Amino acid sequence: MREAGFIVVGQGIAGSCLALELADRGARVEIVDDGWESAACLVAAGVINPITGKRLVKSWRSSAAHPRAREFYRSLEARLGKRFFHDRKILQLCRSPEEAELWRGRAEDPEYAEFISDPVPPGSFGGLNDSFGARFIGRSAWVEPPAVMSAFREYFLSRGMLRTEKFDFSKLDARARSYAGRAFRGIIFCEGWRAVENPYFSWLPYRPAKGEILELKSPEPLPEHIIHRGKWIMKTGGETFRMGSTWDRERLDCLPTEGAGAELMGALPGIFGRAVSAEVAGRGAGVRPCTATTRPHLGAHPACGALMSFNGFGSKGFALSPYFARHFADWIFGKTALDPEADLSRHIRKFWRPPAAGAA
Ligand SMILES: Cc1cc2nc3c(=O)[nH]c(=O)nc-3n(C[C@H](O)[C@H](O)[C@H](O)COP(=O)(O)OP(=O)(O)OC[C@H]3O[C@@H](n4cnc5c(N)ncnc54)[C@H](O)[C@@H]3O)c2cc1C
Repeated sequence: MREAGFIVVGQGIAGSCLALELADRGARVEIVDDGWESAACLVAAGVINPITGKRLVKSWRSSAAHPRAREFYRSLEARLGKRFFHDRKILQLCRSPEEAELWRGRAEDPEYAEFISDPVPPGSFGGLNDSFGARFIGRSAWVEPPAVMSAFREYFLSRGMLRTEKFDFSKLDARARSYAGRAFRGIIFCEGWRAVENPYFSWLPYRPAKGEILELKSPEPLPEHIIHRGKWIMKTGGETFRMGSTWDRERLDCLPTEGAGAELMGALPGIFGRAVSAEVAGRGAGVRPCTATTRPHLGAHPACGALMSFNGFGSKGFALSPYFARHFADWIFGKTALDPEADLSRHIRKFWRPPAAGAA
C-alpha cells in the first residue's frame, strides 16, 4: 500500500502554511479541503497588528511570530511570483480623551515605544474623525487574503498536493493509520472552526466567533493606512475599501446578515466624523476558530498519536500561522517541545474523557 505521508485537512491559512513547511522538509503531503466551504481566511482583513485588544497589549508571541510572518510572506511572494504582502501602518483614531490617555501611557512604556508614534494632533487628517488625536502603529502589515490563498491553491494544485473534497471520517481507521484504504503517517486537522464537529478534537475548548465585513465603494479620499476606530477600514482600490468587523458567538455560519451590515455602516460616521455616502459592493462572513484560552490547540490526540491538531488561531491566523507552522514541524520531527501555552495536552485533564471501547 502506498503511504500517503501526512494528510492535512483544510487549506485555510493554517493548513497552507503547515503543508508547505512539511513539503519543504521533504515529507509527502496531501491536502484535503472542501473547496473553502467554511474558510474564515477568505473574509479576514489579513492585518498583522502588534498591539491588540481593548487594553492595548502586545499581541501574544508577536515578537517572534511577526518577523517570521514578514519573512515567510515575502519569500512566498518571490517563490510564486505574486504580490500579496504590504507593509502598512495602522492609523489609530482615538475615540475619547480616555483612550488618548491610554495610548499615551502605552507609548511611554519602553516595551511599546518602538511600535507607537508620537501623538498626531487633531485636525491632521481632514477627511477623518481625529478630534481626540491619533497614533500610528508601526511594524504592522497587510496580507491580501484572497490573493495569498489563491496563490497557495494554484501552487498545491500544480504539485498534485490538493484534493477538493470533504474529509470523510467514516473512511478513517485511526488505529490502523489508514484513510480511504491508504496508510498514512499522520493526519493533521486544520479545519478552522469546524473542529467543533471533529469527532477526535471537538472536546477542546473552542469558542468560535463569527465575523462579517463589507466591501464598500465611495469617492471619499482615504490614506493608504489601515484605519482603526472601533472598526477598521482599508483602501483596496481607487474608490473601494473594506470594512470590518463584527463579533457574534451565537450564529455560527458563513452567511452575511442585515444586522452586521447595519452595525458596520453605522460605524462609518464615527470614522469620518460626518455622514458619508458609500455603496455596498460586497459582503463576507466567516467564523474565527477562537479558543477559550485565546491560545491555539496544537499537538496530538491523547489516544491516537497519529491524529494531530494545528488549529485555534482565532483572530490571528495570518499573523501566527507561518511561525507556528515551523514550530509544529520542528515538534513533529522531534526537534523541539511544543510551546506550553499552545500545547493541547494542557486541556486533557479537564476536558478529555477516554472514549468507550472502539469510539474516538
Ligand atoms: C471578519 C474576520 C476578520 C479577520 N481578520 C484577521 C486579521 O486581520 N488578521 C489575522 O491574522 N486573522 C484575521 N482573521 C482570522 C483568520 O481568518 C483566522 O485566524 C484564520 O482564517 C484561521 O485559519 P484556519 O486555516 O485555521 O481556518 P480557515 O481559514 O477557516 O480554513 C479552514 C479550511 O478547512 C476547510 N474544512 C473544514 N472542515 C473540513 C473538512 N471536514 N474537510 C475538508 N475541508 C474542511 C474549510 O472549508 C477551510 O477551507 C479574521 C477572521 C474574520 C472572520
